Amino acid sequence: MFGWFVKGATSRVRTTRYPAHDETAPGVTPGRPVETTCDNELLAIGLAATCPTGAIKPAAFKTTADISRCVHCMACTRGENTMSWQADYRWAKWVGDNARRAARHRPFRKSLHIRVVDTGSCDAVLSEIKQLVKPYYNMHRLGFFITPTPRHADVLMVAGPVTSQMRLALLKTYAAMPEPKWVMAVGNCAISGCVFAPSFIANGSVAGVIPLDVQVPGCPPPPLAILHGLLLLTGREAEMPPVDQPLGGTP
Ligand code: SF4
Repeated sequence: MFGWFVKGATSRVRTTRYPAHDETAPGVTPGRPVETTCDNELLAIGLAATCPTGAIKPAAFKTTADISRCVHCMACTRGENTMSWQADYRWAKWVGDNARRAARHRPFRKSLHIRVVDTGSCDAVLSEIKQLVKPYYNMHRLGFFITPTPRHADVLMVAGPVTSQMRLALLKTYAAMPEPKWVMAVGNCAISGCVFAPSFIANGSVAGVIPLDVQVPGCPPPPLAILHGLLLLTGREAEMPPVDQPLGGTP
């Protein structure tokens, strides 16, 4: 602990001030593709064809982007006709029941214990989740803690496309958690299966196995986006703002 204090004081490594202030440090987010105006329909179709995962859809004089299918390959940012890009990180979205949403604030506003389950991820999402306990993001300052047992968990954080080998483990972990409990899908694989599912080895989404409350898209989502999901769950942050709105948001 003393070592961390000395390192912080001498190297000037500081903890992010998010959510009290927007984080603008370089590298905290890869950004995301957003709706883009095109001169004609043909250009929109051509731009959509650059995406290997079908995340871009053509429409009349524009293209739309679905971040829950984007793998951040950046193919749509090269060439003459490119997608618009927004460098934000408030990507989490409430997808659960509205009654559960209304009831979520009170018991969890101050503190939350999280059980992480890897249901066949490539480890990219887990690497980002690990960043949350390091000095820069330090989620403990916000009352968020990882717990090794589902018996102590309030939130089940799931990464990966839910392979058939991990499906039973996911169901057992969910069943072992006390009520009230919430489920958060982190990363595109957990939301839609992305490039891995549905297939012969994976179901394709957490929502197809257990009730889902919050999804954090991204491949992988940066640590601030995951933090946004936890803050949304506790009612301390608003959902992903519309494109081109200021980064700040109030619950
Ligand atoms: S970054 Fe890659 S995956 Fe994402 S929208 Fe662009 S082309 Fe598609």
